[in-house]
Amino acid sequence: MEGVKHIMQRSENLVSKIEVRGTTRVCGLIGNPVEHTMSPLIHNTLAVRKGIDMVYVPFMVQNDQVSEAIKGAYALNVLGMNVTVPHKSAVISDLVSIDSLAQNIGAVNTLVREGNGFKGYNTDMSGLKRAMASDGILISDSDVIILGAGGAARAVAFLCATEKASSITILNRTLDKAEKIADEVNAVFGKECVKAMALEAYEQLPVKSYLAIQSTSVGLYPHHEEAVIMDVGFYKMVTKGFDLIYKPEETMFMKMVKKAGGQAYNGLKMLLYQGIDAFELWNHVPVDEDDALAVYQLLKENICV
Ligand code: NAP
Repeated sequence: MEGVKHIMQRSENLVSKIEVRGTTRVCGLIGNPVEHTMSPLIHNTLAVRKGIDMVYVPFMVQNDQVSEAIKGAYALNVLGMNVTVPHKSAVISDLVSIDSLAQNIGAVNTLVREGNGFKGYNTDMSGLKRAMASDGILISDSDVIILGAGGAARAVAFLCATEKASSITILNRTLDKAEKIADEVNAVFGKECVKAMALEAYEQLPVKSYLAIQSTSVGLYPHHEEAVIMDVGFYKMVTKGFDLIYKPEETMFMKMVKKAGGQAYNGLKMLLYQGIDAFELWNHVPVDEDDALAVYQLLKENICV
């Protein structure tokens, strides 16, 4: 609750710097719930810094009213929308077109206004790619291990296949779910680019230097002492570890990677760059490193509360 209050105060300070005029364009977020979102902080900060006549607001949309919300937003001349859980797949049937990565993943988090409706994108994944690149990690050069087979892991698997990772192995507690994702990705790409393994079978992985992308919910605050694999032996193969979780700032997975001598990163930059990619799509202005860093610092301050 304290955290929400803090974010609201930050947002109020920001909004006081935004002059809403007759020309001001509206962007927003639809989801259920939306109270904890940090997207207004990202977009209103960028709007102020870039001098863009835009304001960003959250909209709580009931699960059975997604269609009405999209049509209503278009009728109200809304410039663009972000979409969060649980509506990321439900919005697809209301779009006029969809980017190919988002289509493959089957989830959309950004809507961009076009002549006759909204086009859908998945900036969660373009944002992950950009976050990694900002830390010098190129998926295309990497042997990738994806831990988990939920919604986020599925998207990560499509991103890694799109980026032509050297190899992709999904490890999950429930093997069936990992196999289903591998089958889907392999069907789209017409070759066996993704392998599935049960989590406990990690000892059978070929010995290599891996990029491990932690895509389970294990280790999320307040469970900071948990990681999906606790064996140091596994982490000796992980040269770079990227945890999609950003709260706590340093997860147990990251601690284990570092302890074994690797480099580890959390998911806050992914959150940052999914927002920046959406902002750029809506406003057709590039966001430079200074602006990105300023927003990143604000996000860090708010995560720490
Ligand atoms: P999800 O669909 O609920 O999937 C959860 C995954 O975690 C499944 O693979 C599940 O395995 C695994 N898991 C859960 N508890 C486990 C346990 N005790 N032992 C082993 N595996 C366990 O969640 P999601 O939407 O994919 O999200 C995953 C994480 O990514 C979340 O923490 C979320 O916060 C984070 N995320 C971050 C960003 C960002 O911007 N940084 C964006 C999206 C998501 P089973 O299949 O066996 O149940």
